[in-house]
Amino acid sequence: MNVLVTGAAGFIGYHVCSRLLERGDDVVGIDNLNTYYEVSLKEARLQQLEPYDNFRFIRMDIADRGAMENLFEVERFDRVVNLAAQAGVRYSLQNPHAYIDSNIQGFINILEGCRHHHVDHLVYASSSSVYGANETMPFSVHDNVDHPLSLYAASKKANELMAHTYSHLYQLPTTGLRFFTVYGPWGRPDMALFIFTRAILEGRPLKVFNYGRHRRDFTYIDDITEGVIRTLDHVASPDPGWSGLTPDPGTSRAPWRVYNIGNSKPVNLMDYIGALESCLGKTAEKEFLPMQPGDVPDTYADVEQLKEDVGYCPSTSVEEGVRSFVDWYRSYYGSA
Ligand code: NAD
Repeated sequence: MNVLVTGAAGFIGYHVCSRLLERGDDVVGIDNLNTYYEVSLKEARLQQLEPYDNFRFIRMDIADRGAMENLFEVERFDRVVNLAAQAGVRYSLQNPHAYIDSNIQGFINILEGCRHHHVDHLVYASSSSVYGANETMPFSVHDNVDHPLSLYAASKKANELMAHTYSHLYQLPTTGLRFFTVYGPWGRPDMALFIFTRAILEGRPLKVFNYGRHRRDFTYIDDITEGVIRTLDHVASPDPGWSGLTPDPGTSRAPWRVYNIGNSKPVNLMDYIGALESCLGKTAEKEFLPMQPGDVPDTYADVEQLKEDVGYCPSTSVEEGVRSFVDWYRSYYGSA
């Protein structure tokens, strides 16, 4: 297949590209290599993909309408995986426009390209953050997600709504995946595991928000990648029985899906830190702080629908996953 992967230099994008390339798909990866976090890490990920003959990288911005129209005009994509976005909840408080540019303007350019060029299936990143302060555990795609707590979450919910419209109007098969705190090798420097690892190795105290009380459904990157590829291969088809986020269950005949993709085994933040401390053989000093604005208290994915439809089966324990991350971190940064 010819696959377009946006955000190819990003954490999840890099892993998804690797898997597609290994199995022989032709992949065009695009990314604007923005400076949200260290560009050298994005470039290093791309270097890992360079040896594949079936990979081409184009540096471009999905929010650039003309460039995106041109890309879809000159290339032929069977499937598209949209992972390019401005990520991060805290950053959205200071930089709201970045989320509108990449996550809304960029996403409409993706939808338009897929529509006009008859892409078989668009899979795109949504987020567990759409659940806000949902207290019904585990989080189900049938829960109400009308109360996002950050602009980031609002932009992801908007993507699901925009995708529904395009599925409905143009029969474009779309699948949104609500990722739950993804971690692992080549991970993001703005996320907790990375920040904690760096702080412990540099002998600095950890800033532990919400006094360490929240639980997160930490999900290992290989499980996520497997789920993304399985989902990409399973093209959504019109289904009158699907209710999902449709206000009136049973009325949506669009080839539109939204799934949770998590580990479905939430872990207390202090236990996550404990797993890291035991890997590093060091105990960290901790500074306990209140919850940050926009953050959500707990996350816990119900993944039964994804298991049933595509055979998704997360299998990596937090202990194994944290160890793999630490091994990668040490080899990449050369830390003791
Ligand atoms: P990431 O920041 O590592 O990857 C995103 C990539 O997209 C980056 O390389 C960035 O340079 C690129 N990008 C951003 N805006 C762009 C634009 N306008 N045009 C082209 N490229 C652009 O993040 P990630 O963790 O790999 O996340 C991938 C997707 O999954 C994102 O949509 C994110 O919101 C979503 N998500 C991730 C998590 C997680 O835990 N990692 C959780 C929920 C949702």
